[in-house]
Amino acid sequence: MHVEGLLKQHVIDPEICIRCNTCEETCPIDAITHDDNNYVVDALICNYCMDCISPCPTGAIDNWRVVREAYSLADQFSWSELPAQQEVEVVEGGSAIEALEDEVGALLAEARKGLGGKAVAPHSASKPTVNLYNRGKPATATIAGNRRLTDAAADSDVRHVILDFGDQPFPVLEGQSIGIIPPGVDAAGKPHAPRLYSVASPRDGEKPNSNNLALTIKREPGGICSNYLCDLPRGAKVEVTGPFGATFLMPNDPAANIVMICTGTGSAPFRGFTERRRRAMPDAPGHLLLFFGARRPQELPYFGPLQKVPEKLLTRHFCYSRVPGEPRSYVQDRIRSEGAGVTELLQDANTHVYICGLRGMETGVDEAFADICRFAAIDWAVLKSEMRDNGRYHVETY
Ligand SMILES: Cc1cc2nc3c(=O)[nH]c(=O)nc-3n(C[C@H](O)[C@H](O)[C@H](O)COP(=O)(O)OP(=O)(O)OC[C@H]3O[C@@H](n4cnc5c(N)ncnc54)[C@H](O)[C@@H]3O)c2cc1C
Ligand code: SF4
Ligand code: SF4
Repeated sequence: MHVEGLLKQHVIDPEICIRCNTCEETCPIDAITHDDNNYVVDALICNYCMDCISPCPTGAIDNWRVVREAYSLADQFSWSELPAQQEVEVVEGGSAIEALEDEVGALLAEARKGLGGKAVAPHSASKPTVNLYNRGKPATATIAGNRRLTDAAADSDVRHVILDFGDQPFPVLEGQSIGIIPPGVDAAGKPHAPRLYSVASPRDGEKPNSNNLALTIKREPGGICSNYLCDLPRGAKVEVTGPFGATFLMPNDPAANIVMICTGTGSAPFRGFTERRRRAMPDAPGHLLLFFGARRPQELPYFGPLQKVPEKLLTRHFCYSRVPGEPRSYVQDRIRSEGAGVTELLQDANTHVYICGLRGMETGVDEAFADICRFAAIDWAVLKSEMRDNGRYHVETY
């Protein structure tokens, strides 16, 4: 699998392999071979069909390295142990690897479409880990909590689901996503594809220094994975891939102003951002500004907790479109009515903009930015592409 000059190479752990020949017999395209020392996989032949993974009695076959240049057969024959994974997350030229699995890469590329150009991480962002677990080798998490965030009377069922990883390492940064593999098979009899969910907690866990993370899941009528997750009881086990995403990341700079615009579960990464600021840099000079759209207050995930964050840390604008007797208000309307303050922020080189949530919000938000910028004699199209190329403008919609 090639990602911007990188190769994910299938390798066999010589320390565990018992040389039973099962994998060589199983491989349908003769990608596996051996000498007197080791069983090895030829990177030029292997097509990642995964046929050899489950028959291997030891698990030695299920090993992967991300490399710039493939280990040759001669290299692999000489190994007495697997080489360590080299640091390869960021490719020269500043572009970032969001995911190494094609299907996840495609989901993220779609979610970034509204950017209108190449996604670039904030320069100050911490270095993310991607693709530690994949479909061939998922992490198993335990559900440590599952509670409804939206009012019992609300139309939408949005849940706060906590996944505990026990002793498996699962390092995440605010703004990354993880994959959930729903059990069972699709209509064609193939295992379900993983679905992506944004991490809603800060990097050090839902509670500080716990090896867990939170997700914000909206139940989709008829949806496979969201219903599966929303119905999971505490203690249930879930297969997880990832983490994914290397650009929609929080600037790790206390001076950064962060303008966050979301609807519904698009609030998930912003809960992570806000909690990170609150915990790690409560006296940061940078400003957090949130525009959050929902039908009614009852439909707002994190309504209660977000209201409790001090105004000094986070300025909130809630916009409701279906409150009886009140005019409809969408995030773009509020961006316009707060135009003076927003344009002032946009002219500050420390300001980052993040848009997350329903795809439908993109156009309205973009038009609102263009309008307020016009009023301040700023060319939004020019400013936006400048910010994007600088890692200061980010879109993730689905
Ligand atoms: C980067 C990224 C981050 C995301 N973050 C979040 C998040 O934080 N929280 C969140 O809740 N979601 C998030 N999503 C969306 C999430 O990945 C899923 O798409 C969502 O949960 C729906 O998945 P599902 O399996 O329940 O629905 P699916 O089974 O995939 O179905 C999708 C929709 O199609 C409809 N549908 C399916 N089959 C049919 C059919 N035969 N006929 C008619 N309609 C049909 C379903 O009713 C459903 O509404 C994110 C997506 C991306 C790309
Ligand atoms: S993944 Fe498929 S092609 Fe690659 S070594 Fe295993 S069986 Fe052969
Ligand atoms: S099946 Fe597993 S244990 Fe057997 S030779 Fe292949 S890698 Fe080694």
